[in-house]
Amino acid sequence: MRVLEEHGRPLWVIGKPLEHTLSPRLHNAAFDAAGLPHRYFALEVGRDELAAFLRLFRAAGGLGANLTLPLKEAVLELVDHHSEAVAAIGAANTLYRDGDTLALENTDVEGFESLVAPWSDRVSERGVVLLGAGGAARACLHALGRLGCPRVQLWNRTRSRAVRLRETFERPTVEVLDDASLEAGGFEADLVVNATSLGLNPSDPSPFPAGAIQPGMVGVDLVYGRDTRFQRDFREHGEEAVGGLTMLVEQAVRAWQLWTDREPDRDALYGAAGGSP
Ligand code: NAP
Repeated sequence: MRVLEEHGRPLWVIGKPLEHTLSPRLHNAAFDAAGLPHRYFALEVGRDELAAFLRLFRAAGGLGANLTLPLKEAVLELVDHHSEAVAAIGAANTLYRDGDTLALENTDVEGFESLVAPWSDRVSERGVVLLGAGGAARACLHALGRLGCPRVQLWNRTRSRAVRLRETFERPTVEVLDDASLEAGGFEADLVVNATSLGLNPSDPSPFPAGAIQPGMVGVDLVYGRDTRFQRDFREHGEEAVGGLTMLVEQAVRAWQLWTDREPDRDALYGAAGGSP
């Protein structure tokens, strides 16, 4: 097989299910804006099909890929060249070529750092309340460590998963909150981060009790493209709230840089995501 470079190379987002992914729209907008012929596709790939996908990727001259559930962790068993962030988090969302080898990165870390950049002083001086203990929460914890956050108060529906994260991450210090202490409030934190899946459905409640919102607190929601109960509660209490669009776009920016060694047109990416930088 021979890849005809001048006609463009393929990229994919893989995972299952994939119906709602915005990634092809974002990345193809950036390729068009840069005048590059590459094309980015969505391909449903289950856990047992991942090895076959990697064979296809190599044979078809794939330029890169994004991985989503349920492949973010499983891919580490099949691609062993990965960054420090991927090792710490135990999950990757980006596959790229590094010379002749395939390599993994977790660009959610930089995406989250960009999302909380407006409050970076408060992150490094005070603690953060983090809700959730899945893949996104682990990327947030790693990023918070890099940003110098001293302490995270972590709540998760399944408490044992939060306890496991407390044992995995040395920095920041993690204190696990049970349901009663979440309800009681009185946190030494300015930022509350929703890294649970609550908010994906319009009828979802907020994972953070409205009565625990304190003056000056900011609600940072990883859910993007919708006004969630979590965000509305903060605004109704006169506090700031932000959705996860910046994280979505900035993790895409970092992936695009890894694939092309170039800077994407951020306006094209934000435009395709339905927002502005
Ligand atoms: P995940 O690994 O499946 O983790 C899901 C998390 O949500 C777990 O902590 C889970 O708790 C919790 N959860 C699920 N249903 C819940 C419920 N009914 N009540 C309370 N907690 C519940 O998913 P993920 O990859 O971490 O993603 C989490 C969220 O972040 C999703 O909304 C995703 O779209 C968003 N995200 C956004 C970006 C972005 O770029 N903005 C990037 C990554 C992820 P249990 O442990 O108890 O199951």
